[in-house]
Amino acid sequence: MAIELENKNAERFSHLAKKHPCFSGEAHMKFGRMHLPVSPACNIQCNFCVRSINQDENRPGVSQIILTPDEAVDTVEKALRLCPEITVVGIAGPGDTLASSASLDTFDKVHNRYPEMILCLSTNGLRLEENVERMIAVGVQTISVTVNAVDPEILSQIVGWVVWQGKTYSGREGADILIQAQLRGIRKASASGLLVKCNTVLLPTINEEHIEEIAKAVTEAGAGSLNIIPLIPQGKLSHIPAPGCAELNRARLTAEKYLPVFRHCKHCRADACGIPGKNIELSALLYKQQAENTFSHG
Ligand code: SF4
Ligand code: SF4
Repeated sequence: MAIELENKNAERFSHLAKKHPCFSGEAHMKFGRMHLPVSPACNIQCNFCVRSINQDENRPGVSQIILTPDEAVDTVEKALRLCPEITVVGIAGPGDTLASSASLDTFDKVHNRYPEMILCLSTNGLRLEENVERMIAVGVQTISVTVNAVDPEILSQIVGWVVWQGKTYSGREGADILIQAQLRGIRKASASGLLVKCNTVLLPTINEEHIEEIAKAVTEAGAGSLNIIPLIPQGKLSHIPAPGCAELNRARLTAEKYLPVFRHCKHCRADACGIPGKNIELSALLYKQQAENTFSHG
């Protein structure tokens, strides 16, 4: 059963993965992606997450700017002038992409102007299930869902609280709501034809012995690949050490028994722009131009 699922997912993946730098190692070296930073807020609190507006830090959750949907679509045009190899327009924060309507409103505009672009959304999955239809309607084809545990006991050490249907939940209760929502969302997204990659942050002493369970659960739900990212120790989890290469490799080999594992992730900023495999990063230039244009026209 697991092999059948894997084959089915692999087939669905192959055509888009060839042009998506974060779905295949080969495309990673050839094609570009940009992240449009339109989603500042989040509906959960991961204990390792520190969001920030700055130009200096090179990590997820950081952007030098927050754009409106209209500004974002104009930014795609400027980015394509700087980097014509861009095939993917993604939204990855700095908060959660489905915590407000900004991401899907942005994709709607980008899809109308650039129908050939692959649109890719990263989310914590809490509000994935309810948004699948609109995601498809606005042209989203690929998504990344971050799943850091499928056991509420373990996830309650990683996630402080979850806002669900207007109420805030913490501890095992909040963790359980998030896990169930993620798996329902992945199932529905995958069954509806979206290509689903999962991300897992590897947290030594917390979820390092739990990778097999995560890989199994997300594969059964319909994920086509997994990206295991080392923890950047910060926030309430700054005392947890980052995993070393050996721990990361062990986790990836474990997960690979169930689904393909992507090994080239660069932990990009929420305003990244360029070809990740060639370390070509143009966001500073892109937004410097934008500031200059705003100034000269203003
Ligand atoms: Fe931060 Fe993402 Fe977690 Fe939200 S889901 S708290 S943005 S890491
Ligand atoms: Fe791709 Fe990783 Fe960067 Fe996301 S963070 S755009 S998966 S390289």
